[in-house]
Amino acid sequence: MSADLLDPVVFLSVNGVAEWLPLSEARLPVLDRGFIFGDGIYEVVPVYGRVPFRMDHHLARLARSLGAVGITNPFDNAGWKARIFELIDGFADDNQMVYIQVTRGVAKRGHAFPADTQPTVFMMNNPLVLPTAALRADGAAVVSATDNRWLRCDIKSVSLLGNVLMAQHAAEQGAAETIMFRDGNLTEGSSSNIWVVRDGVLLAPVRDHRILEGIRYSLMAELAESVGIAFTARAISEAEVRAADELLLTSATKEVIPITRLDGQPVGDGRPGPVYARLYAAYQRAKEQSRAQFAR
Ligand code: PMP
Repeated sequence: MSADLLDPVVFLSVNGVAEWLPLSEARLPVLDRGFIFGDGIYEVVPVYGRVPFRMDHHLARLARSLGAVGITNPFDNAGWKARIFELIDGFADDNQMVYIQVTRGVAKRGHAFPADTQPTVFMMNNPLVLPTAALRADGAAVVSATDNRWLRCDIKSVSLLGNVLMAQHAAEQGAAETIMFRDGNLTEGSSSNIWVVRDGVLLAPVRDHRILEGIRYSLMAELAESVGIAFTARAISEAEVRAADELLLTSATKEVIPITRLDGQPVGDGRPGPVYARLYAAYQRAKEQSRAQFAR
């Protein structure tokens, strides 16, 4: 591993003072509201061959989440892109994962919004570690739980304790992810969106306050259309999930992977299915197209 993979250069802006510095030297005041209250928003942008994938979608979601919690967006899209490219260019790997976090800033502790703070901005990257061929061939095992998170899951907040506990629930059972049900219907995974295939139709929960709309949500709808798979967004009952022909999981870093076991039971015939295979292939084509279209 090269030196800059171990200690890459990151971007940090605190109280309006912006710096590029090695990760190991980045410091935050303890009164940052991200630390004190989890009062912040984040984004994760996958980068293939030094080209960010669906970057405009990620920046739109970042702006939407910041707006939803009343944090001033520190940069316009051109400002974000300039910094994202600088981060990408300073990193050794061609495939990367850019992490962006914006908090409400540093202020004397008090719950309501402080006056006159400047948002804290932190940006770093990591190598993008894609699912292994073995995982794609065998599929993932997941477990389930009742969704006990707050009712603004549409905001990509750094207040992730609910999601952290769900991820730990999976880890303790040797599973890849916990998928959640609220009021008897599927919501999402602890850090992923979940898709159900029944009778050749791709189903997803409706985009509302109960789930984070993954950047792969609209992508999967587009890919399904491009390969002639019908797509429907609607409430999906727990019984339908357990009787699914196929279950799929999507996220920036997992792309799309098949789920082949749920709570120890096989999903469908227990093997990755044909709808997964077509959407995975379409996903890889979309990555190639994006690299060609946005090559720098
Ligand atoms: N839901 C949750 C709770 C997540 O954390 C993620 C991953 N950020 C997703 C869905 C999938 O979003 P994306 O496709 O943008 O990675």
